[in-house]
Amino acid sequence: MVSETSLCAVVIVLLCLVIIFLLKRNNFDSYLRKFIEYNSNITVVTDTTDILMVNSAGLHYFGFPTVEALKKKTKFLSKLFTEVTNDDIKHVQSINWVTKVPKRQHITVQMQSGTFKQTFSMQVSKINDKRYMVTFHNISKVIAEKKAITQVAEKDELTQIYNRAKFNTVLNDAIRTTQVYDKTFSVILFDIDHFKRVNDTYGHDVGDKVLIQVSALVKNMLHGYDTFARWGGEEFVILAESTNENEAHMLANRIREAIEHFPFEIVKQITCSFGVSQYTKEKNAETLLKAADDALYRAKESGRNTVCISSDKTSL
Ligand code: GH3
Ligand code: MG
Ligand code: MG
Repeated sequence: MVSETSLCAVVIVLLCLVIIFLLKRNNFDSYLRKFIEYNSNITVVTDTTDILMVNSAGLHYFGFPTVEALKKKTKFLSKLFTEVTNDDIKHVQSINWVTKVPKRQHITVQMQSGTFKQTFSMQVSKINDKRYMVTFHNISKVIAEKKAITQVAEKDELTQIYNRAKFNTVLNDAIRTTQVYDKTFSVILFDIDHFKRVNDTYGHDVGDKVLIQVSALVKNMLHGYDTFARWGGEEFVILAESTNENEAHMLANRIREAIEHFPFEIVKQITCSFGVSQYTKEKNAETLLKAADDALYRAKESGRNTVCISSDKTSL
């Protein structure tokens, strides 16, 4: 009899504890729900892998009316975004990735809304051992502005091809890469022949138009991985990737012929002279460009509208 009463009491106490626990948890959950609603950034509560709560900003962004509807598509938070590192995009593989984020402060991720992909700074706050709050701050506008500023800083205003500063950066990178991997590249320097005459005869504006047309023509003849820049005035430079001196000589000759035969407005015909030099380990940026410039000088000296290569010193 006594033991039955005490068993009953134990069960009641246990039930009370369960009810208190559930009430506390429900209360906590409803506070948490309210709390994340206050956040205008996309906010998700997760137990390290599964989505538990999403605020209205998040549901609106992903285009789902309820968390349940979103979870029908994916219950894993990591499937909602891709991580962006140094312009690379990778899918988050690790199951407990969320626990690693706080140490790194924040990571940059991309998320899709309809057909648009936007960039976010993702931050993780630990609520307790089982729950993490993940906040996504939209940084797409800042990224786009930064990109636009960089593009303006890298481009030549008149011709819209790269400027000398950008070329130097690419050249130094290419030298570093070539030293690590067994690769090569060549530099082609070219200069419009008797360009002063164009200005003197037709005026500066017509000269400008020629510079724009030459730039567009040559840009169309190059691979996307080659770098083409205005070196200054009426002088241009090409960094031809994975190209030895003979191949660069052939490329320069094709460009020389294309310019020679291009029907320029008003001026009708112009020609260019070319100097080619292949990068070798004993050269640096300065000596490589000097070698191409010396070859260009020889091309001018030997009658213009021609290509000279730096290793061939005989044509002077
Ligand atoms: P060469 O065949 O020896 O190269 O003769 P050149 O007349 O082309 O060379 P020179 O160095 O004597 O003259 C280059 C001219 O290019 C002089 C300069 O006014 C002109 N120039 C430089 N930059 C620009 C520009 O942005 N627009 C125009 N229209 N002309 C430019
Ligand atoms: Mg010239
Ligand atoms: Mg010149």
